[in-house]
Amino acid sequence: MSDHPAWHAATRLLHDDAALNEDAAVVPPIHYSATFRARDAAEFAEMANRPRHPRYYTRYGNPVHERVARVMAALEGTETALLTASGMGAISTAVLAHVQAGDHVVAQTRHYMSTAKLFDELLPRFGVQATLVEQSDAAALEAALRPNTRLVMLETPANPTLVLTDLRTVAALARPRGILTIADNTFAGPLNQRPHELGIDIVVHSATKQLGGHHDLTAGVICCSEAQAERLWRTHITLGAVLSPMDAWLLLRGLRTLDVRLERINASALALAQWLERQPAVERVYYPLLESHPQHALARAQMRGGGPVIAFALRGGFEATGRFVAALELATHAVSLGGVESLVVHTAAMWAGTMNEAQLAAAGIPPNFVRFSVGLEHPEDLKRDLAQALARAFPEH
Ligand SMILES: *Cc1c(COP(=O)(O)O)cnc(C)c1O
Repeated sequence: MSDHPAWHAATRLLHDDAALNEDAAVVPPIHYSATFRARDAAEFAEMANRPRHPRYYTRYGNPVHERVARVMAALEGTETALLTASGMGAISTAVLAHVQAGDHVVAQTRHYMSTAKLFDELLPRFGVQATLVEQSDAAALEAALRPNTRLVMLETPANPTLVLTDLRTVAALARPRGILTIADNTFAGPLNQRPHELGIDIVVHSATKQLGGHHDLTAGVICCSEAQAERLWRTHITLGAVLSPMDAWLLLRGLRTLDVRLERINASALALAQWLERQPAVERVYYPLLESHPQHALARAQMRGGGPVIAFALRGGFEATGRFVAALELATHAVSLGGVESLVVHTAAMWAGTMNEAQLAAAGIPPNFVRFSVGLEHPEDLKRDLAQALARAFPEH
């Protein structure tokens, strides 16, 4: 938790870890050391036995991890945070730390794909049953809760159509029953949405996305209470998804500018989503802060900004959509999101090697669907690029 709760996020991002400064260096050093020296036997015993000691052995903790955790906890409003080597490291650690054979868990029908596999494939192998519910249907979620339900996994907004989960409502259903809630806050990010303030217990992130923000590192974060962190850490040191000190340092460097990056990205993304809605070759645009979003009121109630990702469907098939994506000059055809460069994904093209158009449609992957992660290019340049690509792919409009 921040020592200075009155500071704005932009300030906390820069100064909340200052108390961990050891010397005169303005920029923290990278402690690129797997292990740390004890001065004597008493100190060695203290190092080995204190959970999350930042100077014992890097799988257990590292000074750079400690600094990033301080900043992340302040951002999400939790007591502390734990770093992992990837977003999936954070999600699998958070879930596996809390379940055992015989438990039941509830998750969404739509999740980040590897998260879905955790619930569909991995947990059942260990005797943990998952019920998947439509995330916009709180009544279905309530109906899925059982006496042995241990946790509820949430993700909002979620791929592919940026559908939302009502975090306040789910927290109010789970908490009185003693059921843990975990929310993946990767798409919105902590400046746009703070699940813990709405009653969610644990917030996880793929820090690979907007938190790192430069498409150059892979990392994950679990934001939680001190008591939860100790339990999570005990699972974490067994699973071993440990973030390298270099990537932790790059993440801290990325976080310093999160506020200005997201301010620009939120504004550009909303402007581009509104503009795309007016283009004749665009069939439908999905963005939480568009008034046309089916859960716009919920978006207003739980989000301060829409985040980097816009999804849209074009008035054409696989070929025309592919031509549009190929014609873009600024947005790079690559997965991931939330970084400085705009990225675009033709969702169906990811699967084109293994499924034909009919199979894609059956799998709920429309051939005309595009996911666009808005970067820091000037919004007018992005708009011009989208316009020329639409004109080339859809000359009839
Ligand atoms: C990318 C992503 C993940 C996985 O993160 P990695 O850092 O790639 O392991 C999890 N959830 C969401 C919503 C993501 O976008």
